[in-house]
Amino acid sequence: MGTDCLFCRIVAGEIPATVVRETPTTLAFRDIDPKAPVHVLVIPKEHYADVATLAEGDPGLAGEVLATAAAVAEDEGLLGDGFRLMFNTGAYGGQEVFHAHAHLLGGAPLGPMLA
Ligand code: 5GP
Repeated sequence: MGTDCLFCRIVAGEIPATVVRETPTTLAFRDIDPKAPVHVLVIPKEHYADVATLAEGDPGLAGEVLATAAAVAEDEGLLGDGFRLMFNTGAYGGQEVFHAHAHLLGGAPLGPMLA
């Protein structure tokens, strides 16, 4: 995708980010505007516009994103109390950055999903 995509530019090192975990195919970094004590974004390095496109195009890579998110949850001490993992998708889903990303949220009670 390249220079038009914010998260591709983070992958390329053109925009700084606080990276908490990196694998050959995925990157996890802290959200710039955290909505919880722990708020990490987990992305495939390869550009896919959203999770549906990612899951259809490369299900194995989608699984790697989930595995990286679980590893970060463990690193951040979230496994005991739990956490939320979500993919905003499309206009109704409130997606603002069109490079597939999981939000990993935790560190405090988050309440009901649709409250
Ligand atoms: P979306 O609404 O697309 O699911 O979420 C996009 C997320 O990206 C938001 O939570 C927003 O705070 C985060 N974000 C936007 N720009 C940047 C940035 O430059 N760096 C980082 N680390 N996060 C960003």
